[in-house]
Amino acid sequence: MGGSEQRAWAIVVAAGQGKRMRTGPFARGPRKPFVELAGRPILLRTLDAIARSGAVERTVVAVAAGDLAAAEELIGPERERLRVEAIVEGGARRQESVARALAAVPEEVDLVAVHDGARPLVEPELFDRALDAARRTGASCVSLPVGETLKRVDRSEEGAGSPPMIGGTVDRSRLWAAQTPQAFRRADLARLLDEAGRDGAHLTDDAQAFDRAGLPVEAVPGSPRNIKITTPEDLAMAEAILAGGEVGARDVRVGTGFDIHPLVPGRRLVACGVELDSPVGGEGHSDADAAVHAVIDSLLGACAMGDIGTLFPDTDPAYKDADSVKLLADVAARLRDAGFEPRSLDVTVLLERPKLAPHVGEMRAKLARAVGIPGERVSVKAKTMNGVGPVGEGKAYAAQATAVVGAGGTEPLSRGDSGRSRTETET
Ligand code: MG
Repeated sequence: MGGSEQRAWAIVVAAGQGKRMRTGPFARGPRKPFVELAGRPILLRTLDAIARSGAVERTVVAVAAGDLAAAEELIGPERERLRVEAIVEGGARRQESVARALAAVPEEVDLVAVHDGARPLVEPELFDRALDAARRTGASCVSLPVGETLKRVDRSEEGAGSPPMIGGTVDRSRLWAAQTPQAFRRADLARLLDEAGRDGAHLTDDAQAFDRAGLPVEAVPGSPRNIKITTPEDLAMAEAILAGGEVGARDVRVGTGFDIHPLVPGRRLVACGVELDSPVGGEGHSDADAAVHAVIDSLLGACAMGDIGTLFPDTDPAYKDADSVKLLADVAARLRDAGFEPRSLDVTVLLERPKLAPHVGEMRAKLARAVGIPGERVSVKAKTMNGVGPVGEGKAYAAQATAVVGAGGTEPLSRGDSGRSRTETET
């Protein structure tokens, strides 16, 4: 909380219709908050970033009425980690959605940071900076100096068919493009949104409620990677950024994992979350899914974050017969909390029988979903030991895995150059 006694919550607005997203190959796809960005829904990636900000205590999410159930289902399993307090039904306009979310923020909370659900690449530090500014000034708006030369385009007088014409050049020296988060004193925001509603004012962002009332709003320098995903092209750009084009490729880490369990009668045989038809199964405290255990250790190993035994001790009754795929999802969440982004997995399952080939597709999908990466980045290979050793004799089942993880994938660009260099005129 940065040494301040003031409490701060976040509001995530994800109640838009997302019409511009529903073009081309996305026309029949899920609604925007649920569209996957590199294997993990946009809304969850946004909430990941907020959860990593030390400044935000709890978050309220506003979604469209028709998305409430889907949002509950999506966020549910990760709700505590993401510190989501409430999921509320948004309104027809952004300002109504924010007002409804604000009603779920307790009065003891001094500050709120409002953020677009469709800005998943936001650096967590922007929340800290926006909230610090709101503590000083009462309101702040993360924004970025406009880099391009701006033209005023006049509508043609000659009717349809003639091209748009440039009517002049606009002085951009004082123009900044608004992003989010935008942070405010909670009570002021509630009062101003109420006033704007009574006046019938249509606000395109939240800081506008303050500037139209003549109140100061501090501009907090934003980041070029904090893009709003509005169209399929934006999604492709966000995927490129996440894939490490500019930042993440600086630091790629690799980890390996290995596990083996005895095979005994009366136990289920589970590999990569898929139960196999077998008279024997893995003996162990959890579901004895050696493949998932190897994957967990490879991910933790890549990040030097310990191993499965220290995280989920087999002396803890909580993990008796535990679903290892759930533990894997938990590990992926811990990695993201620590600033890592899983990139790819390669697993070799060492098992004499039954044949795994018919199940490989389902196995890849289960691992991909749990880790939050695209299915094509997960490889599952099956091998027998040709009768050699305990695995070959059908007495044990083993697996080895390799994970590639990006570090610093959501690290901010250096603060000094995040806006300035873009605004300099090329000479
Ligand atoms: Mg194990």
